Amino acid sequence: MSKQYSIVGHNQYEGQLVDGHLHTELCPHGTGEKVALLIEKAIDLGFYKLCLTEHAPLPSGFVRRYKGDKEAYDTAAIRTDQVEPYLALGTELQKEYGQYINLSVGFEVDYLPGFEESTREFLTLVGPYTGDNLLSVHFMLGVDDGFWCVDYSEAEFQRGFGPWLTKQDVLYRRYFQSVLEGVQTDFGPHTPVRIGHLDLIKKYQHHFNFKSSYDKATQQVIREILQTLRFQNRTLDYNIAGLYKSNCREMYPSSFIQGMAYAIGVPYMIGSDSHGVSAFENAWTPE
Ligand SMILES: [Zn+2]
Ligand SMILES: [Zn+2]
Repeated sequence: MSKQYSIVGHNQYEGQLVDGHLHTELCPHGTGEKVALLIEKAIDLGFYKLCLTEHAPLPSGFVRRYKGDKEAYDTAAIRTDQVEPYLALGTELQKEYGQYINLSVGFEVDYLPGFEESTREFLTLVGPYTGDNLLSVHFMLGVDDGFWCVDYSEAEFQRGFGPWLTKQDVLYRRYFQSVLEGVQTDFGPHTPVRIGHLDLIKKYQHHFNFKSSYDKATQQVIREILQTLRFQNRTLDYNIAGLYKSNCREMYPSSFIQGMAYAIGVPYMIGSDSHGVSAFENAWTPE
């Protein structure tokens, strides 16, 4: 038995228990708990497949375009010198648990406009050693023409995107526009197959009193993202972490986007985005 979520859409893994978005003990903003414990829990629960998707290192030049909190930057992703240990850990875990569960080892890669080339190089280098990779937007252009973290804290969001807090449609459209550019970018033969938490921009929606509807122009950008994904045969990460964030209380993406994805024909894989065992248990064990 496991928890059920109410979702609209076409499940890529219909009838199977899967989690397509997981972090490990190497994640600097995680709990440091060994992901092996999480894997054992998943095997107990009868899971068919898990995807480890650790945050890929940020491109070296990105720090100069970043204007936000230093701690947010320093803890956003693993370092370049941790890539090999991460892949080695993945191989070890596959050896240990591979006979009980389908374990994919990959990265959650950031789409950062202007840094496409380094991202393509990274994916070309690690791609052959990875399974499912995710493409996500955690950073967006804001104040001072710099990049700011979208999901670090309410205060940081306010600092980076303050001028747009009263122009929600513009702010959201800017986010989806960045996702669209990411989706249209060719990252080479190992371009990520799945798009992470498509509407992460709403993470603090209750704090900032954002509405849950989109204007026509924003809907059009979302439609274009989904049509592109359909054409490319890519999928969406239906991310349940948002449900458990006090100022979000909703999955990523919203039911509106889920409905649109269903109509357009973009399948999903559910992901808990767990950064430790207790989040995983909370996401999957019935109360
Ligand atoms: Zn994370
Ligand atoms: Zn993410």
